[in-house]
Parts: sequence; structure tokens; C-alpha cells
Amino acid sequence: MHIPLTSSANAGPDPIRIAICGGGIGGLSLAYMLQKNSNIDVQVYEATSHFEEVGAGLTVWPRTLRILRMVGLKDGYSDLATFPPPEASNLAYDFRKSDQPEEGHVYFERQVPGGLTSFHRAHLLDLFAKKVPTKNCHFKKRLQCYEQTEDHVTLYFADGTQATCDALIGCDGVHSAVRKRVLKEKLLYEEDDSRRKELTECLNPIWSHTNAWRSLIPMSVLKAVAPDHPATKRPQIYCGTRQHAVVYPIAKHTLINFVGCNREPNEEGTYDALYALPPSKEDVDKMYADWEPDLQILLKCITTITRWPIHYLKPLPSWTEGRVTLLGDAAHAMAPHCAAGAGMAIEDSFLLSTLLRHSMVSKVTLPSVLRAYDKVRRGRSEHVMEASEYCGFIYHFVGKNEDELDLLGPEIARHTEWIMSFDPVQDVEVAIGHMMNYIFDDCRSVHKT
Ligand SMILES: Cc1cc2nc3c(=O)[nH]c(=O)nc-3n(C[C@H](O)[C@H](O)[C@H](O)COP(=O)(O)OP(=O)(O)OC[C@H]3O[C@@H](n4cnc5c(N)ncnc54)[C@H](O)[C@@H]3O)c2cc1C
Repeated sequence: MHIPLTSSANAGPDPIRIAICGGGIGGLSLAYMLQKNSNIDVQVYEATSHFEEVGAGLTVWPRTLRILRMVGLKDGYSDLATFPPPEASNLAYDFRKSDQPEEGHVYFERQVPGGLTSFHRAHLLDLFAKKVPTKNCHFKKRLQCYEQTEDHVTLYFADGTQATCDALIGCDGVHSAVRKRVLKEKLLYEEDDSRRKELTECLNPIWSHTNAWRSLIPMSVLKAVAPDHPATKRPQIYCGTRQHAVVYPIAKHTLINFVGCNREPNEEGTYDALYALPPSKEDVDKMYADWEPDLQILLKCITTITRWPIHYLKPLPSWTEGRVTLLGDAAHAMAPHCAAGAGMAIEDSFLLSTLLRHSMVSKVTLPSVLRAYDKVRRGRSEHVMEASEYCGFIYHFVGKNEDELDLLGPEIARHTEWIMSFDPVQDVEVAIGHMMNYIFDDCRSVHKT
């Protein structure tokens, strides 16, 4: 099925003005899916001076690939992605027991119909960005705050400028300014103490005491020392106590993406104190000093490394307030252990953009659209947030002895079952149903008064 990105929806004298705050995968995928509709005026406000190429490799599951195909990016994605090898087309990852100096072994091979595809974040960002007109992208626009009335939202940027829109979508990542404002708006009207506590706890992300160490290894460098290294062909997860490493080819097999994840031994340590120190390759060498030879080969090929603190959010009691909602990490930042954050952001964009193009949508009905999006997507992402956290514990063998490793495979499969369930396309139908109900309820209450 191919979803046309244009429609005759929202017919009216002026286009509906949608402001997107943040030009990461969430913001740009949404901008791409909305920009072809002449009845929607979409503007992207990004804090940095260009769409940033940070982040190295990412993977997505077949459910995301299906969406990219439906919105007309089949060829564009195929040109940039690395697919599983033909002899293992359903392969997701090999999970290895690796925390010993002797050669490890695969304790579980995760298969998913269609397998896992991988890419450089910058390449996917570029695929979306190229299709969004430059006149609609505004750089060095760091949102500080917004104010909303019944019929519009005013955005206030750090450079002193302002913009106005009919709806604001906060795609501004884990430290989202939009999220803080949405939750503070809710706090203004919330009198129940336990609900106030819940809202307050969601304002800021929580550091998981986990770091991700990311590096890119040229495939030619790895092949020169180990031509048949498993990571040249198949995604690998090297597992062990308190840490693991995820390794897979990207950029059409020209690079190997390395992500080492460790849990800080001192759980009392603060994020600020730790991150005052510059990241060093020696730290990573020390972390994996006694691990298996295949991993040592990879470490020898690494020259530079970056360190990423892993933050997550508690599930938010709501993403939406009036004409403002959240999308991507701003709404559901999660641990990366299910390789799901970017894919979930694209699913958010798919559902929200389909609703916004619907013929029942007008400037007046926008709050109902955002409520319907929130109702369907929030529950979905909560499930994946929980699964992502849990998978981290499984990869680190928490609560398991060495002779119990064969129990881990079924647990991983159980916590990643969502990959094949809750169909994002069927969810659009469900969300349209909610949206119609909300719109009719609003109409009824207006007629009553
Ligand atoms: C180590 C690691 C590995 C991962 N692996 C995977 C994986 O394999 N698969 C997967 O699906 N996901 C993965 N993820 C998660 C994925 O990277 C994120 O979920 C995804 O990139 C989030 O996209 P986003 O657009 O919501 O946020 P971001 O990418 O954070 O983009 C937010 C944008 O908003 C801008 N911004 C911030 N504040 C403001 C402001 N106030 N005003 C204006 N602009 C602002 C920022 O500059 C940025 O451009 C991984 C994450 C990590 C850390």
C-alpha cells in the first residue's frame, strides 16, 4: 500500500499552520510527511545551525521499513540502508556470551520476519531533509517557551524572535523544552497531589547510570585484520555482566557501527560529575579487558570514541495540552536496548501526519486531532519503553547464572514481540475513530451552550 502524502483535506481560506520544534528524525520525518499537503503550512524550528549529523549508526525493524515504503521512501531508503545477508534474511542479532577471555558462543539468534536494517543517522536525516523546502526550515531557533490561547500558539525563541502557529509539535528530543511547558501547563490546573507528583517526575529525564560508547570502524580496517569477523556480515550483541556491545555494518557495508553500553558500578555517582571527564578509548579498553577475542579485534580497530549518557523518561500521563503535543524522544525517550526510539518516532509521525491530513481536520478541530494521536501512540510507546529497559537487564545477565543462559533467548523474544504486533497502520484507523468521536463531542457541547 502506498499512502499519498497529499489530500484535499482541511479545505479553507488559509492553510493550517503546523510548527515543528526540533529537526531530528522525529521532526524531519513529520515535516516530510506533511509538506506535500498544500492545505498545511509546516515550519521546522531547529536550535542548531544545521540538521546535525550526530549519532552514528541506527537500526530499524520491518514495521518502520513498511512505513517508509508507504510514504514513498522505498528507493531512497534502499539506497542508504544495509540489509541482512541473503542467507539470513530474517536475522536481527546474534546474542553472544562474551565476558571471558576465551572465545564466546552464540546463546540466541533473534529472528524477525524481514530482519533488521541499519543505516547512518545522518543519511536518513538527509533523506527527509532534502524533501522539505529550505524556506520552511529555520535554524538557530532554540525554543524557550510558548503560550497558547484557544485559537493559536505563540513560540518564543532564545534569539528574541517569535512565531505563531495553529498547532505546535514538540520534537525537541529527550531534554525537550516543549515537554516541560506542556507538563507545567497541566500542573497549573491539577489539584490532586498524587497527579501533581506524577507530572513533576516527568519534567526531566532520568540518567539510567548507563553510558553508550559509540564509534565507527571502516570496514576495510576490520577486514584487513579479520576478513571473516562475524560483525562484517551479521549484527552481533556481545553480552556480559554489567555491560554489552552492539555491533553491525552500516552505510552499505562500508562502516561498522560499534556501541558499547556499560552500567556505572557506582550507582550513587551523578551524571554531571562523571561527564565532566572527557571520554577516552582507554576506558573502553579497560571495560572489556577480559572479554572474548572477537571483541578485542574490534577494539583494536577503534581510534576515536564518543560517550553518550543514556537518559529515559517515566511514562508521561499525557503528551498533549490543547494545541500542543510531543513526538519522538520528547514524548518517550527510552533506553536504546530494543533499537526502537527512532522507529517509534517515525511511527508517531506516520499516525499524526495521517490524522492531520484527514478531511475532518480544521484549525478548530486541531486539539481533537492531537488528543486522538496521544490516546493511541502513548500506550504503544509505554510498552516499548518498558521492554527496552528490561532488555538491558537481560543482556547483562541480571539474576541469571551461567548455566541459565538458555533461558535468556525466550525472554528476549518475549520482550521484543511488540516488533511484530500492534500494527501501526491499523492504529491509524483506531485513531481516526477516536478523533471523530472527540470532534463530535466538541460539536455537541458547543451546541448545548
Ligand atoms: C546509543 C544509542 C543507540 C540507539 N540506537 C537506536 C537504534 O538502533 N534504533 C532506533 O530506532 N533508535 C535508536 N536510538 C534512539 C534514537 O537515536 C532516538 O530515539 C531518536 O534519534 C530520537 O529522535 P528525535 O527526533 O525524537 O530526537 P533528537 O534526535 O534528539 O532530535 C531533537 C532535535 O531537536 C533539537 N532541539 C532540541 N531542543 C530544541 C529547542 N529548544 N528548540 C529547537 N530545537 C531543539 C535538537 O537540536 C535536535 O535536532 C539510539 C539511541 C542511542 C543513544
